[in-house]
Amino acid sequence: MALLARFSDHSLRMQIALVFGTLVIVLAVLLSLGFGELLKHHIRRDAGLSLQTVADNASKLLANGLMQRSLEAEVLASAATIWSAGLDSPEAQHMLARSQAMEPSNLWIGVADAQGVVRNATGGLLQGHSVAQRPWFQRGLQEVHVGDVHPAQLLESLLPPTASGEPHRFVDFAAPIRIGPTTVGVLGIHGSWEWTREVLEGLAPSTSAENAVELFIFDRQGQLILAPRRHSTTLQAAGQRLPEGIHVNNNRDGGRLQTAVVPWLDGKHYLTAATQLQARNAASDLGWRIVARQPVELAFAEADGTVRLALAIGLAAALMASGLAWMAARRLSEDLYALADAASAVEAGRPGSNIPAMDSNREVHQLSQALGQMTHRLLAAREAMEEKVRLRTLELEAANRALDLQARTDALTGLLNRRGFESQMAFALALARRSTRPLSVIAVDVDHFKRVNDTYGHEAGDEVLRRLARTLETRLRGSDVIARLGGEEFVALLPDTDLEGARAIAQTLVTAMAQQQDPVVGTITVSAGVASMRGADDSGAAILRRSDMALYEAKGQGRNRVCVEA
Ligand code: GH3
Ligand code: MG
Ligand code: MG
Repeated sequence: MALLARFSDHSLRMQIALVFGTLVIVLAVLLSLGFGELLKHHIRRDAGLSLQTVADNASKLLANGLMQRSLEAEVLASAATIWSAGLDSPEAQHMLARSQAMEPSNLWIGVADAQGVVRNATGGLLQGHSVAQRPWFQRGLQEVHVGDVHPAQLLESLLPPTASGEPHRFVDFAAPIRIGPTTVGVLGIHGSWEWTREVLEGLAPSTSAENAVELFIFDRQGQLILAPRRHSTTLQAAGQRLPEGIHVNNNRDGGRLQTAVVPWLDGKHYLTAATQLQARNAASDLGWRIVARQPVELAFAEADGTVRLALAIGLAAALMASGLAWMAARRLSEDLYALADAASAVEAGRPGSNIPAMDSNREVHQLSQALGQMTHRLLAAREAMEEKVRLRTLELEAANRALDLQARTDALTGLLNRRGFESQMAFALALARRSTRPLSVIAVDVDHFKRVNDTYGHEAGDEVLRRLARTLETRLRGSDVIARLGGEEFVALLPDTDLEGARAIAQTLVTAMAQQQDPVVGTITVSAGVASMRGADDSGAAILRRSDMALYEAKGQGRNRVCVEA
């Protein structure tokens, strides 16, 4: 979850590149490892097969050589005409010498009589000595014999030293010499062991040097009997035996891969193949195992190199694919960033800002178009809303003004109420003070109004109040301010009118009311009190109080009259 949260912090570009890159790299590594392993398997198989072939070829060459030698012994032994002249005849001597000249690795060719005394030999070596105890003689009396490798015994001191300086080792070949049914002696050949080495070295000198392929011979008991010179002493001293775990090819397994990687006593691992010597005749069946080995790192060098190459190519392809993904993601995210910028500009209300159409791919194109249309509609809706708000504000202002007027107006008569009157009074006072013009007030009160209400009802009373208001309006100037202060008390404010002028106007009002005849309530009279502003220090409240006192006076004097302040 934490990983996901961190992943979502990355930009879209990074996310796409990460996902795609990881995918491609994993895929490339898996594929190249897979292919690499497959190739490796094949190459290893080939390496194993070629090693096996080397071992098989060596085995065939040795088998042929051994057979030829044993045949040679047989052929020499069967020259009955020469032997009938005596085992030590000059002809016999000559024949042995010629035979050796043809095959110099036959270090000694000799003939022993039936008692085991050497009667004739190349170079005259061992002549007269008894070989009756030697295995080759004992076996050779019976049949054609090929003896396994063994160190020279009697001949060691007689022969010239070997090229390597090592002691002489021989492979023995023997065949009975028969004249008629009688075995008269045994022909023996001591073949130099170096011959084997030459055969093996001659087999693949060039490949050996390059690939470090080495050939070994182990005897039937698994004892190392031949190794390349540089190893022979160390491996023999270490007691190297036929490595365990390897399969010895006896040419009956078909093409099955028989090589194996096994440890040798020199401490290294080798790809190893072994073949059993296929004797060409019964006599030469020595049971040798011809073993070819190659250091495992060399044998598999090509395979390992192939895997590394496949991996490198895979990784390079993965890097390229990731780069492409990065570029594609950048193109996509650039459009998205541009969209976000445009949206911010629209949000900030920058003039002329709009959502541009994008075309990096179909989805982004659709998104940008939809956003553009939506923005267009939102902007239009916002404008409509603002217009609506402007209208509503105007309406509210009008309503407020109406309310304000209502607050200053008396509902029954349509005149100003006390509140409306007070502001007009303050205004008129200020004007009068500045202009030093006179200002007068008439307080008017209906006489015995309570009786009207009591007698004719409240409705009729209201009607009387409305009639009084109309009378005041018609009788007074437009510049005069008329108000109903409450109940049946009215007041008139007369700018530019002195006390006397106001008294006269009040009188006309009182008279006019008294002359009116109402069909329901009959004649209704009013009383009036008049007062005027007395200098700049006089207040509205004081003037009103004095007009009220004058009104009280008029009531006291019998009503339906005008009184002026004292
Ligand atoms: P006076 O001559 O001394 O002025 O006697 P009056 O009866 O007019 O005096 P008073 O002030 O005692 O009575 C006023 C009456 O006016 C009391 C009330 O019933 C009545 N009145 C006050 N306001 C209204 C109104 O708006 N409509 C009606 N119909 N009657 C009102
Ligand atoms: Mg009254
Ligand atoms: Mg009254």
